[in-house]
Amino acid sequence: MKPMYRSLRIATILAMLVAFPFESAVVAQEPPAVIDIHVDLSDAPRRIFHARLSMPVQPGSLDLLYPKWLPGEHGPTGPITDLVGLNFSADGKTISWRRDPQEMFAFQVNIPAGVTQLDIKLDYLPPSASGQFTAGAATSDRLAVMSWNALLLYPAGKSAHEIMYRPSLTLPAGWGFGTALVESRREGDEIHFATVSLATLVDSPVSAGAHHRVLDLTGKAAVRHRLHLVADSEEALDIKPETEQAFRNLVAEGIALFGSYHYSKYDFLLTLSDHVQSFGLEHHESSDNRLPERTLVEEVRMNSRAGLLPHEFVHSWNAKYRRPEGLTRDNFQTPYQTDLLWVYEGLTSYLGLVLTSRSGLWTPEYAQDALARIAARLSNRPGRTWRPLIDTTRAAQILFGSPSAGSSWRRGVDFYDEGVLIWLEVDTLIRQLSKGRRSLDDFCRTFFGGESGLATVAPYAYADLVAALAEVAPHDWKGFFDSRIYSVQAEAPLNGITNSGWRLVYTGEPNLAQQDREETRELLNLSFSLGFSVSTKDNRVLDVLPGSPAAAGGLPAASTLVAVNGRRWTPEILQQAIVDAQQANEPIRLLVENAEFFSEVLVDYHAGKRHPHLERNDRKHDLLSKILAPRLH
Ligand SMILES: [Zn+2]
Repeated sequence: MKPMYRSLRIATILAMLVAFPFESAVVAQEPPAVIDIHVDLSDAPRRIFHARLSMPVQPGSLDLLYPKWLPGEHGPTGPITDLVGLNFSADGKTISWRRDPQEMFAFQVNIPAGVTQLDIKLDYLPPSASGQFTAGAATSDRLAVMSWNALLLYPAGKSAHEIMYRPSLTLPAGWGFGTALVESRREGDEIHFATVSLATLVDSPVSAGAHHRVLDLTGKAAVRHRLHLVADSEEALDIKPETEQAFRNLVAEGIALFGSYHYSKYDFLLTLSDHVQSFGLEHHESSDNRLPERTLVEEVRMNSRAGLLPHEFVHSWNAKYRRPEGLTRDNFQTPYQTDLLWVYEGLTSYLGLVLTSRSGLWTPEYAQDALARIAARLSNRPGRTWRPLIDTTRAAQILFGSPSAGSSWRRGVDFYDEGVLIWLEVDTLIRQLSKGRRSLDDFCRTFFGGESGLATVAPYAYADLVAALAEVAPHDWKGFFDSRIYSVQAEAPLNGITNSGWRLVYTGEPNLAQQDREETRELLNLSFSLGFSVSTKDNRVLDVLPGSPAAAGGLPAASTLVAVNGRRWTPEILQQAIVDAQQANEPIRLLVENAEFFSEVLVDYHAGKRHPHLERNDRKHDLLSKILAPRLH
C-alpha cells in the first residue's frame, strides 16, 4: 500500500465516498429496494436479447430512463433505436406507457393504486453491422457480448450508486462466460449473480460463447486476475505460450507502475470474432475487449492489436478510479464534459504503449516503430493548423465515427495519439528536471495511488493534475499543457522524442507497426509520400492530405482508384510506380472513378518510398529505451 496523493485530504476522500457509495461503502439505514433483472441470451445467435425486470414501485406517476451516456464511450451512445418489445404489467395486467416527447430515452407509466411491483419485458436487437462501440455488432452464431445497459430501465431521480439490481442470466446450452459480476448460485440453466448497484451492473458486461477458455494471469499479484477468452472457433483460443506469459507480465508491470490497484479482482474479457465490432471498453474490475477471430494465433494480427488490453487495463486506474469531474456522473442521462480526455485517453494511450513494451507483448523495437508511426501521422495532419487539441476532446462525441474522407483536415479523436507524444514529453521532462531521480512512474504512484482493493472513484480537475505533477517535479505544468493542448499548434509535439534521445526520420524501409496495421486493416497508407491512403479491400481513396502531391494533382477523397500508369492498380504496382518515379521526370498517372465519372490524376512526386522511423540523435542518454524496458522481468 502507498499513501494517497498527499494534497487529497481525508475530508475530500470521505466526501468522495459519500458521493460515490459503491457497494462496500453502502451502509444504508434501510435495505434498498432491489430490482430483479433477468437477461436471456438463448436467442443471441438470432440477434435478439430478452430481458425481464421486476421493480418495486409505489402508485402514481413513474419516470423510467434508458441509459443514454455510457461511461467510456464519451457520448450519448445508448442504443435506444434497438430497444423493442417494451411491455409493462402489474399483477398480470398490462400498463400503458408513453415516451417523453422531447427526451427519447425517458418513459412514463402510471402505477395503479395497490400495485407494489412493476414487471417489465423488453428486447434488445444487437445490430449485425452498424452502430458504435457497445451499440455495434455484438453477436455471432457462437458467441455474444452483453452490456446490461442495453437491457434495462431505471427509476429517475436516484443515484446509480443507490439503485440496486439482482442480475441473472440464461445462456444457450453449452456456452461458457466471463464477467466481473460474482456468481451466487445456479438454478437450472439460470446463473444468478450477487446484488450490485446500477453503476456496477453497467460496469460489468458479459462475454459468452460456445468456445470459451479461462487463463489465470494472477502471478504474484495479491488478488485474482483472469483472462476470459470467447471465440468463434476452438482454434482461435490456442494462445501462444509467449503471449500468455506477456499478458501475465502485463498484470505484474501494471501493478508495479501504479504501486496499488483499485479493484477486488480483475477480469479481462476478450471476445474473438470477425462478426463483432472491434474495440475495447474500460471497466473498473474488467475490460470488454473485442478483436478479430484469429488475433491470438496470427503474429501480424497479434502485433497490430497488442496494445488493446494494456490500454484498457491502464483505464482501471486512469478513468475508472481517477476520473475527470466532467466525466463523473451519478446517472446515465446527464451529458459529459469531455475536455480532460487528453488525460483520460491521452495518458492511457502513452502508458498503454509503455506497458505493451514492458510486458513483452511488443519488442522495444516494435514499440519504437509504433511511436514513429504516431509521430509521423500527427506531423502530417493539416487540420492542426486550425483545430487545437482541446477541441478534439471537447467535440469527441461528434468525432468518434467521423468518416475517413477529410480526416487529416478535420482531425479526429487525435487526443489518443497526441497524448502519447505529450505524455512522453512530460515523462522526459520529469526525468530531466529531477536529474534522473524521478519519472512519470512516480507521478502514477502518487496520483493513482491509495489503498488497494477498493473500487472507488476519485474525481479530479485540471488544477489537481497540475498540482500533482508539480509535487513530483516543480515546473509550470499549466503553461506547458496550455500551449500544447489549449492553443492551435501547427507542428506536432515531438520534444518528447528529442528529449528521449531520438528523432523522427523517413526512409524507404518499412515501418513494422505501420505495415502490420495496413495488412490487418486492409489499406495502403501513402500519407508520407504521395499523400493519400487507399483501401485494398474496395479500392476506395480513404483520405487525401491537403498540400500533398496527390492533392495538388486533384485526387478526390472517397473516389475509387482504378489504375496506375495505365495498368489496373494493386498495392505492388502502385509502390513500384513510386520507386520508378524516382528515376523519371514524368508524374505518376492515377485513373480514378469519382461518382460515375472517370478522370486521370497526375501526381508529380519523385522522392521514393517514405516510411517513418526513429533514429538516435546526439543526446547522450537513450531515455526512450529505458522507459520501454521491463521493470520486473
Ligand atoms: Zn481508452
